[in-house]
Amino acid sequence: MSILVYIEQADGAIKKTSLEAISFAKALADKEGGDVTAVALGSIDQGELAKTGSAGAAKVLHVNDEKLNAGVIQAHAAAVAQAFEKVGAKTLVLAKSSLGDAVAARLAIKLNAGLVSNVTDLPDTGSGYKVKRSIYTGKAFAETELSTDNKILAVKKNAIDLKTDGADAAVENFEVSLDESVFAAKITSTDQATGDILLPEADIVVSGGRGMKGPENWNLIEDLAKELGAATGCSKPVSDIGWRPHHEHVGQTGVKVAPTLYVAVGISGAIQHLAGVNSSKYIVVINKDPEAPFFKAADYGIVGDAFEVLPKLTEAVKAL
Ligand code: FAD
Repeated sequence: MSILVYIEQADGAIKKTSLEAISFAKALADKEGGDVTAVALGSIDQGELAKTGSAGAAKVLHVNDEKLNAGVIQAHAAAVAQAFEKVGAKTLVLAKSSLGDAVAARLAIKLNAGLVSNVTDLPDTGSGYKVKRSIYTGKAFAETELSTDNKILAVKKNAIDLKTDGADAAVENFEVSLDESVFAAKITSTDQATGDILLPEADIVVSGGRGMKGPENWNLIEDLAKELGAATGCSKPVSDIGWRPHHEHVGQTGVKVAPTLYVAVGISGAIQHLAGVNSSKYIVVINKDPEAPFFKAADYGIVGDAFEVLPKLTEAVKAL
């Protein structure tokens, strides 16, 4: 039996979180028997689709309809439901994301499926179907038992090791029949607020706090971010004062990020800020106060003045 994985794309490139979802599904298929079929929607190059094989997909169903390039939620849910039926799947795996959440919620109803989000580990299928998931913004774990026939598992970003050793996946064209009504809510244009990299999806984030003293110093944050290919973020007071736009505010009341690397500069590490970043894989803290609480959550810490450390760090990255 196949496990179906819903793949998300951005401008024709498959998102890393979707490859993680495939790796998770492959490990589940190896445990339970069966194989992994992915479903991809919109214009994506065949070669890009075949690459999903390295993460563990045996086959990709490609719905090559440019109307699906934008994440039109109803249309994506309808197309994935048809793929689920075609492969006779009982389990759908996807990446936890804003689009993934919206699609998964609709599919849970359509497929009469139990849905577990923020999954961090393979289900224990020995007795019952227990799934481990992250709760309270990453501070604790819970086990949820699923008793439905159909199951949807939304995998948390960075929780799964990405598999990269499989052969190319077979790509198959898949025609779906979509009613015009599923395109009723249209994204007519998108406007990127700042930077080239979107904060919620960034793999690296460089964030500044009140320790940066003022907006005129943000070039130091931006220079490091540029060298690292990172998005920029900030603490809440920084956006409240107007040094940075509100959509860059990270934390409990702002954007929750889960990058591979989060660099916090001149941020104290208040619990409300940590709530937005503690799903990061590695945290680097730069703060002149060795007692700053952020150091307790850090993988690496630099005790020093941001105005001295940042230029040196940027130069060091540039030299790599
Ligand atoms: P500060 O606490 O002022 O810390 C500045 C840090 O910079 C200090 O640690 C200092 O040692 C360091 N520093 C100073 N100068 C330098 C220098 N030259 N070089 C290096 N380091 C230096 N906050 C959020 O960020 N996100 C949220 O979502 C959020 N939600 C909240 C919700 C509620 C209900 C409440 C009550 C608060 C919330 N807060 C949130 C605010 C939070 O409690 C903290 O006040 C805030 O995170 C502190 O921001 P900061 O670390 O930038 O500033």
